[in-house]
Amino acid sequence: MQKDDILRLFHDPNLLPSEKQILLSNIAVQAASLGFPCYVVGGFVRDLLLRRPVNDLDVIVEGDAIQLGKALVKKFGGKLTRHDAFHTAIWRLPSTFDLRPSTLDLITARKETYERPGALPTVTPATIDDDLLRRDFTINAMAVRLDGDHFGELLDPLDGRSDLEQGRIRVLHPRSFVDDPTRIFRAVRYEGRYSFAIELSTLERIDPESLKALSSLSGERLRHELDLILVEKNAVQILLRVASVGVLDAIHPRFPAFNPDDAEFLEMDNGLDIPADRVEMGYMLWFMQLSEDEVFSVARRLDFTNELTLSVWAAAQLKRSLPHLVESQPSVWTYALEKLPLLSIYAVYLVSREKALLDYLSIWRHIKPHTTGDDLIARGLPPGPRYGEILTRLRAAWLDGEVKDKEQELQLLDSMI
Ligand code: ATP
Repeated sequence: MQKDDILRLFHDPNLLPSEKQILLSNIAVQAASLGFPCYVVGGFVRDLLLRRPVNDLDVIVEGDAIQLGKALVKKFGGKLTRHDAFHTAIWRLPSTFDLRPSTLDLITARKETYERPGALPTVTPATIDDDLLRRDFTINAMAVRLDGDHFGELLDPLDGRSDLEQGRIRVLHPRSFVDDPTRIFRAVRYEGRYSFAIELSTLERIDPESLKALSSLSGERLRHELDLILVEKNAVQILLRVASVGVLDAIHPRFPAFNPDDAEFLEMDNGLDIPADRVEMGYMLWFMQLSEDEVFSVARRLDFTNELTLSVWAAAQLKRSLPHLVESQPSVWTYALEKLPLLSIYAVYLVSREKALLDYLSIWRHIKPHTTGDDLIARGLPPGPRYGEILTRLRAAWLDGEVKDKEQELQLLDSMI
């Protein structure tokens, strides 16, 4: 690809908003004045060549990213956080750049070595070619140079461009998945996102050895990868593929496959005042049919937060108890649902279409009696558990249509005191 073609893509505001173009050219000027070759790499280049809007700005410097960061802060302002051990810096951008996110990672080109499979790598400064050679796939191992007259030069030592054109995901070396088994998730994620295919010899490397390395990943790292999949548009297709290459069995013996019929529910805007959370919804739909013990066991393996564990547990529990609740009065439903997270109830509604769940979410949960604790005090009732009983009884009467206005509520109250 010619430099001019790259420059044209770079200057296309549909792919790279003009604020980001300005930011990158400012960085390029500073890097050139320090004599540091400077590049954008990875997903930026991949998405640019695919003519997709780019998200992250991954800036790599041959030289010293911290020194570049210091020069940028001196010239433009903002704040620098240094990570000396990794030779990287995070530049909190001054408000003049008006960008989201408002920070930029500045990274020194590096080499990585792994002490043992699945471990985090040891990092040492290196050339851009070394840096590209440590990456996951050929389509992610390209760079575009930014500084001075080199602006727009494509570095593509592994012919990532042709894999990009052919829609192929290819690792850089045979032991790539053993070195870092999270790459297995990444491969499947790109495959589903771009409708690419994992190239055959790469697919063959998802073998017992790499799956064994994967099985020793921490819960936190596994969950991070699954979270990233769940936010993808084709999340369910990707999860099914993850299952078909043997990854789920390697993580946990009780991992179910995601039910493809539930895929549409991930997209659902609930239209109620319940904060949506696609990842949380994804896990609930995925694990709702598990037994209580299985839910806790999977949650432990994936290092779920207590909150997420509770949501999934509540959804599974509610789904199981639906047969006992159907035909119940609204007050019984409300009593059963009141302590459960709203999103769990909504998830069970989506898969069951049980109307009472929707009635609870949209109407019943908001129904309260007019009478309050203060009214009971004013009536001289001694404080105690009786308060709760009375208020619950009044609420139930409203929910079940036993009282229909304030007067009827007061009559009922009188009858109880
Ligand atoms: P996405 O669009 O999914 O965010 P990305 O390419 O921007 O894709 P990041 O996770 O932000 O992905 O990583 C940035 C770059 O770092 C990748 O393009 C790749 O070159 C490299 N990279 C990320 N994770 C790994 C890994 N596990 N092994 C090797 N290289 C990696």
